[in-house]
Amino acid sequence: MSDASENKRYLALSGGVGGAKLALGLTHVLSPEQLQIVVNTGDDFEHLGLTICPDLDTLLYTLSGLANPKTGWGRASETNTFMKSLEALGGDTWFFLGDGDLALHVERSQRLRAGQTLSEVTAMLAKKLGVTVPIFPMTDDIVRTVVDTPDGPLPFQHYFVRDQCAPTALGFQFTGAEDASPHPEFSAALQASNLDAIFICPSNPFVSVDPILALPGIREFLGTQHAPLIAVSPIIGGSALKGPAAKMMAEMGLDVSAVSVAQHYGTLLDGFVLDQTDAALEADVRALGPEVLVTNTVMTSLDDRIKLARDVIEFSEMLQKA
Ligand code: GDP
Ligand code: CA
Repeated sequence: MSDASENKRYLALSGGVGGAKLALGLTHVLSPEQLQIVVNTGDDFEHLGLTICPDLDTLLYTLSGLANPKTGWGRASETNTFMKSLEALGGDTWFFLGDGDLALHVERSQRLRAGQTLSEVTAMLAKKLGVTVPIFPMTDDIVRTVVDTPDGPLPFQHYFVRDQCAPTALGFQFTGAEDASPHPEFSAALQASNLDAIFICPSNPFVSVDPILALPGIREFLGTQHAPLIAVSPIIGGSALKGPAAKMMAEMGLDVSAVSVAQHYGTLLDGFVLDQTDAALEADVRALGPEVLVTNTVMTSLDDRIKLARDVIEFSEMLQKA
């Protein structure tokens, strides 16, 4: 990295578990003044009278060290008294809420009801959990991802958690996105002249990143921002490391490959990061337009996360010079 790297500014777009892995790496390499993280809220939903924000919470738990290392979501050392008691009462138990996690949802929900914005609540939670890097919900307005299936539209968490991604995904709608305002700091960062790169974390392109890109003006800002936009492929060797991204691609008639991810982001991309397993796809991706970095993108250890963060930053510095 260049000597001037401490003056550089970066923006990362993230979903949940995959995105948070790279985001954590970035926080080890960059100071809180250099990095902003914008998080998908299309997964958010109202459940048991609470507002639950799965991707924001995954970021908060990952960056504060509270995350459950086995799942990547939820908290480590959770207890389940609430779930057990709810079950005994015949309540809805398809969405697991650990006792500690529940406290966060209760506190957030009650602050939202009292009139605070989701950004304000997120900033408060981040502060309480000791997360110093700015994390913004993509919008303070309500956007909800809906999965189109042969049996009709399904709210995202019903598809993802209750039905375990079994229904065929024909497409997606981001209800409310058209009328939502992107978080003001998000719009401001995209229009700033001192931004050095934008990273699309290895999150699900269809349900974690597309809701962010669906907000009014975002694609235009990304198109005119001089800073390079770099996406890291969540598809490795023709499969997803976790979750339904590969299944969705097959159901939508796409080739299940990192090339389809690059194609999906299309002309927005200046750079694309392929896993070393997919080195043979480099020419195919390059033919679509972006520069390509081939490296290890499988983030098993903290060191892997930090190494990939350094790699994408270095790659962005190369693209700035090009
Ligand atoms: P979710 O919101 O919790 O479902 O998580 P994301 O959308 O942020 O991330 C899901 C995607 O992350 C999946 O498509 C995975 O293939 C991808 N993923 C998970 N771990 C890794 C990793 O270590 N490296 C890469 N390249 N992708 C990963
Ligand atoms: Ca998610």
